[in-house]
Amino acid sequence: MPQPNLPTSYPSRLVGRYALVTGASQGIGRAVAIRLAEEGATVAINYFDHAGRAEETLALARTASSDRGHGRLDHIVVKADVSNERDIAAMFETILARWKRLDCLVNNAGFQQESPSEALDVETYRRIIDVNLNGAVLCAQKALAHFVARGGGGSIINCSSVHQIIPKPGYLAYSISKGGMANLTRTLALEFASRGIRVNAVGPGAIDTPINAAWTGDPEKRGVVTSHIPMGRVGTPEEIAAVFAFLASDDASYITGQTLYACGGLTLFPEFRENWAS
Ligand code: NAD
Repeated sequence: MPQPNLPTSYPSRLVGRYALVTGASQGIGRAVAIRLAEEGATVAINYFDHAGRAEETLALARTASSDRGHGRLDHIVVKADVSNERDIAAMFETILARWKRLDCLVNNAGFQQESPSEALDVETYRRIIDVNLNGAVLCAQKALAHFVARGGGGSIINCSSVHQIIPKPGYLAYSISKGGMANLTRTLALEFASRGIRVNAVGPGAIDTPINAAWTGDPEKRGVVTSHIPMGRVGTPEEIAAVFAFLASDDASYITGQTLYACGGLTLFPEFRENWAS
């Protein structure tokens, strides 16, 4: 089975920056928080319902930054349901009261639920849109208000998905939420480009995280998933975190309004790997 070729050392591109990562108690959010901390950023680890796991992320972020010579940075854990406007306001108040600044928002929190579209109940539909899309909008508004008020720019990175462009039958609300990420990212990017604020998105493919627990631990089901991925393997959260770190850094200083897909080739129409159409 092909293995990821991961670098053994990272640059320190985010020294002196302050970043908020939503949904960082596990999975991609956790990996992003750790990677940003490794590169020198001070991180706020948002969680909703897993305080213990958020504390684990905090401990890992502390180790990551001190191991790489950044000292004891002021990483914090902040509880908030990103679908709740009051929670979001309180989260930003807490962060800004403590740090006095924020440089980067990572809108990562999200979930999915399968249902035949005709039977998708309206509560589930609303909850998925509220968390995955509206939560990102509300957090972006708070971050933008701060970036504009203090001047000097900032960065927002949305965690989208290959399902921003690939329909996902049986996951209507999830597909709509990720489709919406495209115009959220592009509209804000255009509106704020002249003020040094960059807005981008990352589009992961199939990544080894708890959201995919239904198949990651089952060799047969995992085999079916990987058979559809041109690179022949599932991605790691660390491979996705690397893309976030790049977009957060000045290495991406001229990039805005883009979705960078990290998906092992899933967006390349894998059904066309072998010619059947002509
Ligand atoms: P995950 O289930 O491990 O993590 C999701 C995180 O979001 C959890 O920490 C959860 O507590 C948090 N969350 C959920 N609802 C929340 C709320 N209301 N408020 C605050 N936090 C909340 O899954 P993951 O794979 O790490 O997913 C992270 C992001 O990546 C999601 O937006 C997901 O859609 C996206 N994504 C994942 C994959 C994949 O294959 N794993 C692929 C494409 C996109």
